[in-house]
Amino acid sequence: MVRYVYDFAEGSRELADLLGGKGANLAEMTRLRLPVPPGFTVTTEACRAFLAAGTAPDTLADEISEHLATLEQTAGRQLGRPDDPLLLSVRSGGRFSMPGMLETILDVGLNDASVIGLAKVSGNERFAWDSYRRLVQMFGSTVMGVDSSLFENAMTDLKRSRGAANDLGLNAADLAGLVRTYKDLIRGETGEDFPQSPAEQLRRAVLAVFASWTGERARLYRRREHIPDDLGTAVNVQTMVFGNLGSDSGSGVAFTRDPATGRPGLYGDYLANAQGEDVVAGIRNTVPLTALEELDPVSFGQLRGHMETLETHYRDLCDIEFTIERGRLWMLQTRVGKRTAEAAFAIAAELVDEKLITPDEGLARVDGDGLARLMFPRFDISAVGEALAHGLPASPGAAVGAAVFDSAEAVRRAASGEKVVLVRQETTPDDLPGMIAAQAVLTSRGGKTSHAAVVARGMGTVCVCGAEELTVDSAGRRFTVGDTVVEEGTVVSVDGSEGAVYLGAAPLVDSVVMRYFETGERSDGRVEAVARAMERADGLRRLEVRANADTPEDAARARRFGAQGVGLCRTEHMFLGERRKLVEAMILAGDESAREKALGALLPLQRQDFIGILKAMDGLPVTIRLIDPPLHEFLPDGTDLAVRIATAEAQGTAPARHDTELLDAVNRMHEENPMLGLRGVRLGLVVPGLVAMQVRAIAEAVVERTRAGGSPQAEIMVPLVGAVEELRIERAEVERVLAEVSEESGIPVHCPVGTMIELPRAALTAGRIAEEAEFFSFGTNDLTQTTWGFSRDDVEAAFFSAYLDKGIFATSPFETLDREGVGRLVRIAVDEGRAARPDLKIGVCGEHGGDPDSVHFFHATGLDYVSCSPFRVPVARLEAGRAALPEPGGAAPP
Ligand code: PEP
Ligand code: MG
Repeated sequence: MVRYVYDFAEGSRELADLLGGKGANLAEMTRLRLPVPPGFTVTTEACRAFLAAGTAPDTLADEISEHLATLEQTAGRQLGRPDDPLLLSVRSGGRFSMPGMLETILDVGLNDASVIGLAKVSGNERFAWDSYRRLVQMFGSTVMGVDSSLFENAMTDLKRSRGAANDLGLNAADLAGLVRTYKDLIRGETGEDFPQSPAEQLRRAVLAVFASWTGERARLYRRREHIPDDLGTAVNVQTMVFGNLGSDSGSGVAFTRDPATGRPGLYGDYLANAQGEDVVAGIRNTVPLTALEELDPVSFGQLRGHMETLETHYRDLCDIEFTIERGRLWMLQTRVGKRTAEAAFAIAAELVDEKLITPDEGLARVDGDGLARLMFPRFDISAVGEALAHGLPASPGAAVGAAVFDSAEAVRRAASGEKVVLVRQETTPDDLPGMIAAQAVLTSRGGKTSHAAVVARGMGTVCVCGAEELTVDSAGRRFTVGDTVVEEGTVVSVDGSEGAVYLGAAPLVDSVVMRYFETGERSDGRVEAVARAMERADGLRRLEVRANADTPEDAARARRFGAQGVGLCRTEHMFLGERRKLVEAMILAGDESAREKALGALLPLQRQDFIGILKAMDGLPVTIRLIDPPLHEFLPDGTDLAVRIATAEAQGTAPARHDTELLDAVNRMHEENPMLGLRGVRLGLVVPGLVAMQVRAIAEAVVERTRAGGSPQAEIMVPLVGAVEELRIERAEVERVLAEVSEESGIPVHCPVGTMIELPRAALTAGRIAEEAEFFSFGTNDLTQTTWGFSRDDVEAAFFSAYLDKGIFATSPFETLDREGVGRLVRIAVDEGRAARPDLKIGVCGEHGGDPDSVHFFHATGLDYVSCSPFRVPVARLEAGRAALPEPGGAAPP
């Protein structure tokens, strides 16, 4: 027979799945012989059975009665007995904390008779009636479904008629009257009386807590926090103790260390003559916990002892709720406490020093998200007001600057030392100079893998994208949010970690952790704690970490941040700005010689870029990807051209020939779905000379670096391959040019040739493709796009919030790898690729390479490396180390 109820003395911390976090920890404290008011826990399994069947399991009522009998025996009192009633609290407690989302009912056991008994034994009539009215109110709304505002209104009316400022101004008779009003309300609303039977109160309270699991707000909360819907909650039934019995009573919360900084010590708040609920509700001002030493030195001393016991036992920061009832201390709850990122690193380092935990456990207790938060300057949260608008937090950090509406203005103002925020509907490659000049990029359209997002993240520039409340009027040089008009030059603050935009300059706090990664300087304890976690992670990890970098500066920075090579150099980024004209000339070339001339002009520029990157990464692999995007991305906007031509014609002048040629080309090359069109390897196969020029630039850069005494390790990568035949043809061309340059220079140039796996067909035929590829690199951006059929540039802003709300996925698959679908393709490709070619080197260079959860997946799948933007390199190093811990993610605290 399944058991649904456990006495506190029977449970333990290990049973958190069954008893919920609160129940398991109450049991653990009971086992530690701390003063826990006795009680029992009804399991999450009972809740699941109740939710599935719509009624409680048959045996539950009897089990509860048995455990109640034991409880009554220990207490020497009976539930609701008229002369000296035992009273109970009935509290929810799921596996994961869901603060305030589920129900609680206090003072169960009070009725018209036992309230008199409670008044006598407590010697406090007002207290007894106040407790009874709390029960009737909570029971009426939670269990019997009466609108809680009706109770609140009745309370307000009563206070008004008595001229009382708050409920302390009501006396026992007032409260007794209020109980009558409440009971009448319940009868009027439900046709039923408030139940006088304590056993019935208890039974119904337990079921009401179960039912609250599926309430609207609990559901919403779970979705946001990624808590599974099918866990159910446990219910803790516990002897009531009272902190509101006078000045020798009170309630408080306590932390064994400062949860903000991690500093050891006693932290918390205490409120005399109050119940726990009152401390949290903030109805009266609390005093710091240390003040309790004066008020009640004996209880304070005991509390300090218990806190030490708990921290040593849990080997972590604990948070605690306690009540003092007439000078007697009771421990009501503990759990491993939440903390800031800074505190997480500090506490991990200190507990390792104190030998409470091993260095591996220390590493398990910190994470990449926390590290990323510590790397960016932040707004001083206490000083910022209401946000002007919200968008997607695309590239974290905090930046302040004057709003500007085009790239040229951004560059112009930045050159004169002004800080600017580039505001666009969405960005294009043309905006790059402005993006580089800007402190932050703000767009009203586009998702987290939109151009603005990817480029900004790559550069470490703050970015909020897809802020749809914004109407961007570039021509009018302003944007509007509702009635607010923000003209060019107005200072705005952009929080890329939270996805928020503020009007005016919000104050910033600098990051010492970033300085550490840049310079190696261990300036204080906070940095020291981070450095130690990084060293441990580097010692453990099996995954190498490379960076996505397109410039020597990015490559050099990535190397300082610990990158072990470049995993993706997007060569098309080298065709922007001034050089776009050269690509334009190549596209427009009417004959062979014009094309060769245009390519010939690009060659030395590209070679110079490769030399710089290979130098910055000397001795380490640099994976250079051949051109990927559709060529028309390098042409001007067709509408602009058409307008220019029409204007010229309207003025009676002939339009510029260059413009008409360009417009022809734009129209000719137009594609309905460019991401599925002429791009990637397809370009190399149909545009003569383009790949040869790029490979020559790479090979000549290798020659030059070799001559300079360097050790260049270039690898050539072909994008968007779907069939081995494509790669075979492209590879032959690559080999031909490499041989040509080797021959000309007398220096043998060997570059491994590999491919991106970013189409489902490539993954499904990976065994064939591996015949021609010396390495694979998963392009998980495109692989996600093509597996889901989601346009990466459109869907996040368009409908992902609806998908998240409906629980279709818990996080965007562009952010965290979809293990079930895309991950399956990755696994197939790894298995079949390695089967065909055992020494196949495999990495990933999509955005997922810097995402903590995805890094764990890539580790488990046996990849050789992940590659991510330079600023994510430390995050990937840390997570790759955590993934390699004996127990993945370490021992997760409750
Ligand atoms: C990818 O598709 O994951 C990738 C790295 O290539 P890009 O983002 O340049 O398409
Ligand atoms: Mg791609």
